[in-house]
Amino acid sequence: MGFNTFLGNENAVAGLRSMLASQSVPGAMLFAGPDGVGKKTLATMLAKALNCETLNDDYCGDCRHCRKVEETLALTRQDLARRREMKDAGRRADGLVYFDVELIEPLTRFILIEQIRQLRSTAYSLPFELRNRVFIIDQAQTIHWQAVDLLLKVLEEPPETTRFILICPNSSELRPTLRSRCQRVSFRPVGAPLVERLLREEKKVPASQLKLATAICAGSIAAAKTLDLAAFDRRRKPWISFLDAIASRDGRSMPPGQWKTLLESAKELADARSELEASLRIGYSLLRDLLQILEGGAGAQVLNMDLTTPMNAWAARLGLEGVERLKSGLDDTYRLQTRNINQQLGWESLAIECISESCPEGANRV
Ligand SMILES: [Zn+2]
Repeated sequence: MGFNTFLGNENAVAGLRSMLASQSVPGAMLFAGPDGVGKKTLATMLAKALNCETLNDDYCGDCRHCRKVEETLALTRQDLARRREMKDAGRRADGLVYFDVELIEPLTRFILIEQIRQLRSTAYSLPFELRNRVFIIDQAQTIHWQAVDLLLKVLEEPPETTRFILICPNSSELRPTLRSRCQRVSFRPVGAPLVERLLREEKKVPASQLKLATAICAGSIAAAKTLDLAAFDRRRKPWISFLDAIASRDGRSMPPGQWKTLLESAKELADARSELEASLRIGYSLLRDLLQILEGGAGAQVLNMDLTTPMNAWAARLGLEGVERLKSGLDDTYRLQTRNINQQLGWESLAIECISESCPEGANRV
């Protein structure tokens, strides 16, 4: 138990411990940094440490208060899940009750004004059972614009027994007035050796795939803990056929077989509706690798390192312009997607557009 169980971001942990030791934990803090590195986990650890009955700059996990924080957070998570499932989004914030330690997350696309209103009215009352009240506001960038001013007023003069921890991936997404009222704790992607160790020890990734798996996780502890290499392969496969089909076109003609492969790839991607985000990330990573190869030459740092041979061939055939065009085609498709336009249409139009645009004028298209 305690902060020493937290993986990575040692500076952030050391900073919090020294604030705890000197009893100078500020009323409002901002935990900013990439997804999957444990910002919310560390915030809940801090909530325990601020209330622990036995330790000053850490938490025991065992005393009455530590257990209370844990129980309260479990109830809060259940409550959030229940509210998010409600069909009538307008009623999701009905009858909110906030405990001494509270997790506040978006109930729709936003953290709603009712949630901040409830936070404000609870913040000024003394904690029920604990020494310190802690409000953890996850995805603070989603706080509804109408609620920001309300929150600002509380953050301006936080009640003595209340701490606010705002969490967001990118602090520039927060309004500057909000940002300036919080003391910032920065998080970074965790180092490759730590990710590699997690993958080796917990996920039993074989040595031959360790480098690729570590690169895929991109410094995220959460990604390392949930990595599924088989799923990665499955999602990447259509992209490989897609790129292979486009790159193998010789510029003069497009044999019918290749058109078929291409459209089948597009269809396969579109069918994976629930996996769209993950699939798109893979597509982008392949295009980024191709750009790296074209621009970085021998020193290129590619993610899909097991595909170096085919990627070198695709890069040579597509050229910088071809890869850029693919990327902008993908950007457009992504924008269409997020506007909920028919997915299949999106993928197929991307495939067709990429082919026809990279096909020279007057070329014989079969
Ligand atoms: Zn304790």
